[in-house]
Formats: sequence, C-alpha cells, structure tokens
Amino acid sequence: MKRPLPLGTFIRISACMLLFIILLSGCWSGDDPNRSSEPNPPPAVEQPVDENTPDQPEPSLPEQPVEPYTREATLVAVGDIMMHSPQLPSAYSVTDTTYSFDTYFEPLEGYLDGDWVIANLETPMAGEEAGYSGYPQFNAPEQLADALKQAGFDIVSTANNHSLDRWEAGVRRTIDFLEERGLYHTGTARSEAEAAIPLIVEKQGISIAFLAYTYGTNGIPIPAGKDYLVNLIDEARIKQDIKQARDSGAELVTVSLHFGHEYHRQPSEEQKQLSQSLIRAGADIILGSHPHVVQPYEWISTENDEGDIRIGIVIYSLGNFISNQGPDQGTAKYTDVGVIFSLPITKQFPEEIVTLGEPETVSTWVHKYYENGKRKYRILPMEAVLANQNDTILQPYHYTMLEKYAAEMNSHLQSLTEEADTLPNK
Ligand SMILES: [Zn+2]
Repeated sequence: MKRPLPLGTFIRISACMLLFIILLSGCWSGDDPNRSSEPNPPPAVEQPVDENTPDQPEPSLPEQPVEPYTREATLVAVGDIMMHSPQLPSAYSVTDTTYSFDTYFEPLEGYLDGDWVIANLETPMAGEEAGYSGYPQFNAPEQLADALKQAGFDIVSTANNHSLDRWEAGVRRTIDFLEERGLYHTGTARSEAEAAIPLIVEKQGISIAFLAYTYGTNGIPIPAGKDYLVNLIDEARIKQDIKQARDSGAELVTVSLHFGHEYHRQPSEEQKQLSQSLIRAGADIILGSHPHVVQPYEWISTENDEGDIRIGIVIYSLGNFISNQGPDQGTAKYTDVGVIFSLPITKQFPEEIVTLGEPETVSTWVHKYYENGKRKYRILPMEAVLANQNDTILQPYHYTMLEKYAAEMNSHLQSLTEEADTLPNK
C-alpha cells in the first residue's frame, strides 16, 4: 500500500537537504524563533554541574567574528531488552552467587559508541526480595542495569506494557537501580514532580529531549491518583510534552512509542498516523517498539497549520534486541532479530543549526547456544560475522541462515523508503 506523500516524492537525500534548507530559512516550526539567536537555556534535568565554575559575572570581551565550525554526534537506538525465564539460570553463577548479563553485549564492541545510546527496558527490576521472574510478569535482576551501562547504554525508556508487572514498587525500584548505575530513564516516574520534568541530555553541545509512552500496561491498572507512574499514549498530552521539552531547551525531541501489533512486520495505520501527527507537532525522531520484530524506518514530511514544513524520522519498531524469543522457541520468525539504528546529528556554529543525517542500520541476531552444558545468549552483528567468517561457536548452517537474514533485513528496513523512491513522478 502506498503511503500518502503530502509534499510529493522525497528521496532520502533530498529529505535531508530540504531539512537543512528549512532550518536555514528559520521556519523550523517547533522552535521558538526568538530563541535561535540566544545561548541555549540550561537543560532541564540531570546535567552535571561544574563545581569549579566561579559564581561571578564574566568580563565583557570585545566582539570578535566567530569562525564557523560543526559538531557531530550520533544517536544510537535499539529495541526491547527482555528477560524471559530461561535467561535467568543462564546468567547465574553458582560460585559468585550472582547474575551477570555482560556476555550478551560483548560481541557488540564499537557498535554502541554513540553520544546518546537508548534501549527499551521491557522488564521491571523490582529487587531480589520480590523474586526474579520471566513472562508474564517480569522481574529482572538489577545486574541487568550493570550490563547495560557496561555495554554503552546511557538512557532506557521504561514505558511499556510490562512497566507495572511488579506494580508501583517495581516502577520505583527500577528507577532507583537505574539511577544508582548512572543510567538516564524516561517514561515512568516515582512522583508527580519527577514526571513533570522532561529528560533532556546534552552531548557535543546538542540538547535532545527523550520522551516515552506506552499503549497500555497489560491490564494492570495504574493506581488511582498516580498517573505519573507510567506515561500512556495520549496524543494531546504528548504534543504538550513536546512543546514543554522545546521550551526547556531541547533542540531535538525524540519520542519512544511502545505501540503497534505484536509480530507484524509493517506498521499499522495507527502507528503511521500518530507518528505523522507527532512530527507535525514538533517531534524529530520516533523510536517504536513492542511488535518484537523490526519494522521499517521512513522520513516523514508534514506541513503544520502555519504552512511550515517539518521533517522527522520514524523507525516503527526496533524489534527484540535481547530475548529468548525466536523460531527455535516457537515464536514468530524474526523475533530473534533486532537492529542498531544510528542517526548522525550535526550542529553548525555559529548559526546553531541542527541537522539529522541519513541513518545507518546494523542488523543483529540473538545466538542461543550451550557452553559447558549451560544455556548462553549473545547478540551478534550479522554482517560483521558474515564478513569475518571466523566465529568459533557458529556452525556452517548458521552462516547460511545469517546470509538470508542479513539480505532480507536490509531490504525490509528500507522497504518504506524504497516505496517512495519508486513512485512514478520521481
Ligand atoms: Zn511490549
């Protein structure tokens, strides 16, 4: 089915160039035009404070022309971090009497090196005393957060249908454990006041807001009067939050949406419409999750009520990054496949123009195997494994399978983009 293209056909490169032109002409609709010539306001939350900065007015210097320069940064996003019950004994060491999940991410060295690296944490961490468990009401050991930090993640979205699996206490403990390890979190909160502050993380002089919402909580009701615990998808509310994030100094707004239909490889009309509407309202990057399979990405160009054009990018589902799912477990094909979605971002000075570049994708596969009689898991970057052909655990049939997966995933990820490229009026 062809998607509507409100502004005619955009190939991917021209979308980027157009974005650049729009920014130059100052009609970036989500931005306050009065703000563009001012220094960035202080970010809203959790920024490190330089304690050596003296509390004195700076001496005024004669104005000098600023040499133009560009800052480059990368946002890296992956999908669901899951903890099914077979993963628990797999990660437990009898000698150390604790859990370690580090080996999941070891083959990914160099792939999670972005300035902002974000995943969807699809399990509470409610503490050992609550009893660790897999599906249907997850409770992962908090050592998972250590592994995420060690692997290079900075931020996790915690708004998903499992947020309330361990009720309010689970929401609170999860955030405590994340903060103890220096991980940013978005989508759930311990108080009204915490929920009211958008997460804005500045790297390389670029401030990005990270918002997160879920379609629901698996029928577990949010306690009365405590709506702040989990952000639910509510279009009007998300639009307000986008505006608030921009007013708080965000130059880009990323919205993580836990939505869509499980095991569907293409987005639903609802996913498309909501994404379009949020980009129109000021979102720049939409990171989808929940279907447990990867859905494609596409650039969306929209025109708002003022006639300004906004362009953003959406990946409808990032798939499973780590889980016990897969055809070998009786779940749908491609549930053992994920993607590392990397988005280059540049900021040009002194104009302070922020531009999104063309995304790069690395398809991943969860390899389940046995070592000394114990079940193990690791996430493999498909194409590098295929190029090197020197993995000591994989069997020849794995390579044959990965070749098919890698080729299929590359065309699948771009399937909505290619659709635009092949429109007849191109
Ligand atoms: Zn989900």
